[in-house]
Amino acid sequence: MSYRVTLIPGDGIGPEVTEATRRVLEATGVSFNWDVVHAGAGVQEKYGTPLPEHVLQSIRKNRVALKGPVTTPVGSGFRSINVALRKELELYACLRPCKSYPGVPSARKDVDIVVVRENTEDLYSGIEFEKGTPQAAELIKLLAETHGVAVRADSGFSLKPISETGSRRIVRFAFSYARANKRSKVTAVHKANIMKFSDGLFLSVAREVAREYPDIEFEDRIVDNMTMQLVKKPQQFDVIVAPNLYGDILSDLCAGLVGGLGVAPGANIGDRLALFEPTHGSAPKYKGLNKANPMAMMLSGLMMLQHVGEKDTAWRLEKAIADVIAEGKNVTYDLKPDAEQAQAVGTSEVADAVIKKLRESK
Ligand code: NAD
Repeated sequence: MSYRVTLIPGDGIGPEVTEATRRVLEATGVSFNWDVVHAGAGVQEKYGTPLPEHVLQSIRKNRVALKGPVTTPVGSGFRSINVALRKELELYACLRPCKSYPGVPSARKDVDIVVVRENTEDLYSGIEFEKGTPQAAELIKLLAETHGVAVRADSGFSLKPISETGSRRIVRFAFSYARANKRSKVTAVHKANIMKFSDGLFLSVAREVAREYPDIEFEDRIVDNMTMQLVKKPQQFDVIVAPNLYGDILSDLCAGLVGGLGVAPGANIGDRLALFEPTHGSAPKYKGLNKANPMAMMLSGLMMLQHVGEKDTAWRLEKAIADVIAEGKNVTYDLKPDAEQAQAVGTSEVADAVIKKLRESK
């Protein structure tokens, strides 16, 4: 059987880490039929948009996509195509596993946390009122009438909608993921003591959903306490579920705990479609230098293997990557101690080393 997968190489370091990952995935013995399509600033001129319709169509048809990072140029006039992809395809769950691999220079050992972040609501909804506009003035007037509050006339606003539907969907996703992956606890993160009608709603829905999964332990934490607990005692957490903004921040914090962006994979998942991509961006300063660590992208490919049901192959790939990291020889600059920077290898050499391990494990 051959899996048809949409492949978006991205830009910056994207094409290099994507190529390294494609080679490694093919070396597992699983057969892929790649549907290569492009998105981002590079296609803007040709198609009049950085996210052409045929890219969306390809993902809708294949249901599975592997994507390299794409640059969002500052002040270019287009919003992040990453945000647009998640919205257009209803990829409401962002899944970010953060796991310690022996050999990675990191602040903490024995961390194995999965952050489940809501992807469609909260302060990322894009509902904003710019300072000084008639719409902002109208909102200030409404707030004075309905809440009796005097908001400063020179204020700008970003709204934070959190729905019962969106909360139920993401918390159920987190519990189902925990059950399917033999994880024992879900921690919901919020600031319900202050934002009663948004985070408070998220928390009350999370408590309700938790009752549907009596086999999984449930707890909740206020987000500020959560950041401190994660730094001090990350081992106490298993699956974390959070609204968009807290999930975004906590997933980077967890990535930092286990050694940084070079080893932080991710997935954006909806009811029908799934898109796998590393947490890191396009790191333009390393473009074309054969320097970036491809492991975050390879681990995203591994998540894709798990998603399509190739669990044994995913396990073999994880072991191959872990062995290369543990040996510490064929790793990129970010996984080398300061004194050994000169011995760091490049992106494609990491792929060669992982492929060698895969062949040895057959
Ligand atoms: P970035 O993740 O691209 O880079 C930050 C720094 O992290 C780099 O300078 C580098 O030192 C390090 N780094 C990142 N990936 C690495 C890797 N694979 N190996 C080794 N080191 C690595 O973040 P940024 O500079 O804030 O963003 C650059 C661009 O990427 C922006 O346009 C941003 O919008 C975009 N971006 C895209 C995605 C995505 O496509 N999903 C995600 C985040 C950022």
